[in-house]
Amino acid sequence: MTSFSIILLIVLLVVGLRLLIIERSHRTIKRTHHHLQALINSIPDLTWVKDKESRFLLVNTQFSRAFGFAKEDIIGKTDFDISVDPEQAQGYYEDDMKTQKQRKTFHTEEQITGSDGTVGWSETIKVPVFDNHNQIVGTAGMARDITKRKHAEQKMVHLAYHDHLTDLPNRISFNQRITKLLNLNNCTVAVILFDLNNFKTINDSLGHTRGDEALVQISKRLKSLVDDNTIVARLSGDEFVIAHNYSKLENSLEKLQVALLQKFEAPVVLKEVNYNISASFGIAVAPQDGRDYETLLKHADLAMAQGKINKNNHCVHFIQKFADELLYKMRLSNQLHYGLEKQEFSLVYQPKIDSNTGALVGGESLLRWKTDNEQWISPADFIPIAEKNGFIIELGNWVIKSVLQQIRYWLDNNIQVVPVSINVSAIQLRQPTFADYLFQQLERYQIPGNLLEIELTEGVLMENIEEMITLLNKIRKKDIVISIDDFGTGYSSLSYLPQLPIDTLKIDRAFISNLHLNLDNQKIVQTIVSLANNFNLAVIAEGVETEEELAETRNCGINNVQGYYFSRPLPVSELENRWLNHTDNRMDS
Ligand code: C2E
Ligand code: CA
Ligand code: CA
Repeated sequence: MTSFSIILLIVLLVVGLRLLIIERSHRTIKRTHHHLQALINSIPDLTWVKDKESRFLLVNTQFSRAFGFAKEDIIGKTDFDISVDPEQAQGYYEDDMKTQKQRKTFHTEEQITGSDGTVGWSETIKVPVFDNHNQIVGTAGMARDITKRKHAEQKMVHLAYHDHLTDLPNRISFNQRITKLLNLNNCTVAVILFDLNNFKTINDSLGHTRGDEALVQISKRLKSLVDDNTIVARLSGDEFVIAHNYSKLENSLEKLQVALLQKFEAPVVLKEVNYNISASFGIAVAPQDGRDYETLLKHADLAMAQGKINKNNHCVHFIQKFADELLYKMRLSNQLHYGLEKQEFSLVYQPKIDSNTGALVGGESLLRWKTDNEQWISPADFIPIAEKNGFIIELGNWVIKSVLQQIRYWLDNNIQVVPVSINVSAIQLRQPTFADYLFQQLERYQIPGNLLEIELTEGVLMENIEEMITLLNKIRKKDIVISIDDFGTGYSSLSYLPQLPIDTLKIDRAFISNLHLNLDNQKIVQTIVSLANNFNLAVIAEGVETEEELAETRNCGINNVQGYYFSRPLPVSELENRWLNHTDNRMDS
């Protein structure tokens, strides 16, 4: 029914009422009243007529049903007599008075508490009733039940501001609420950002349904942290955030942190199996760490990243150093891309020595980067950044090309050539075109495969072992030597070794450092050596710095070593001068 038709009906009613008021014969009045009552009973909305004092003169069946009184018992009463909620009655009364005073139609949406206590919503229209002299004699009204629509609207609003899975406030809602908080004067607000550690593993191994279940369980626990000063929200996936206003509360942030950590103590139970789920937490506090939501969240995120590195299940507080480091990394990330064009990269070579004879048996190529402001950046710093921004592919290809070009130069100039190893990053190896590029460059510079070695870390091999075996077999067919770098630090799952087509284990420096003093490491190294012997693999020790370490590697049965004891990584010219035999005329002159 449109508002227009409602008003039309009300006008009808008013006319009917006036008929009631007009002096007529008793019978006529009675008949008219009868007709009028039948008419308004046919209206599905609550319908009524009141006198000037808001006393009911006429109500329909729907009205009497809603308020739980017989029609006769309502006539002559006011809303105060029949409403369960006196506040609502007061509201109805005031609206009646307003309608009379303004002498025009009044439109509102209001709450009605039914006789059974259920609270509903109605859309109400009230009109003033006039007598023949245009004097107000009362009001007439109609109320339509819009409870369903109201609930649907409320649900829509709720959905817009809450996360569907956990029913926690979502990012939009959090943003609005914390912004409001931050706008208050002298407010100390902590933002705690956290995400679940290794949540991807749960999703990948148990499926997304179980993953969702875990999130719901955790969220339920987190809801118990909510109070007048604490908002908990889910930002995305497994990322949650808490805003805590502790302006006037002593130690409350500390208490909250303890309570928060406790939420992760009990395992999450998925299909009757317990899973321990931990999280990494970062905290930023307004105003000192930022005054707006964006800054606080960014800083909490940086602190959280640090928390992931620390892995000690504590809340890490933001410090400016994190932001400085990030800025430094971002700058490096940008600069990296121009490094190749500007010829800022170079290679150094570290000799590999047969410690029994002192003879050079190979060399490892290592990247060096000197930026345009003459700063040397360590590969330990820039390789991870290049891996992240993808530049490692281009850079890695440059290394392959440069090393082969170098070997070609030595071959062409009758300079001694030993196998040179290159470090290949996981990202690079996983490129489908890796082997093709390698072979293409071998072909281009006409280099026999046995002069090239690639150093890979254990992690990359284990991730997709079947594919890796295929790839390594393909590479080995060209006689390229394959070694596992940093051996002993990664998975070190010895069971995979026999499956892999590899040639050399390169024992990590961590085991070689002070080897002569560390019995545990000696045992580990000896085990690695006998393992290698069993599988026909060569062994090399890296990071040999002292005579004692060298002697101990020999004790453990290692012949080939690399390290500062014999030589640091050297620029080509120095390598040629110090280590490579020249059989051409230059040597003799
Ligand atoms: P890595 O492959 O384990 O390389 C050995 C690192 O140990 C080199 O550091 C080398 O200079 C250093 N080193 C060698 N002997 C000793 C020693 O006796 N004592 C000590 N304290 N250190 C020694 P560098 O050149 O800074 O390289 C660090 C890491 O950067 C490398 O570790 C490797 O993972 C990566 N990297 C270097 N060049 C490349 C490259 O061309 N491609 C890729 N993907 N990674 C590279
Ligand atoms: Ca290496
Ligand atoms: Ca290494």
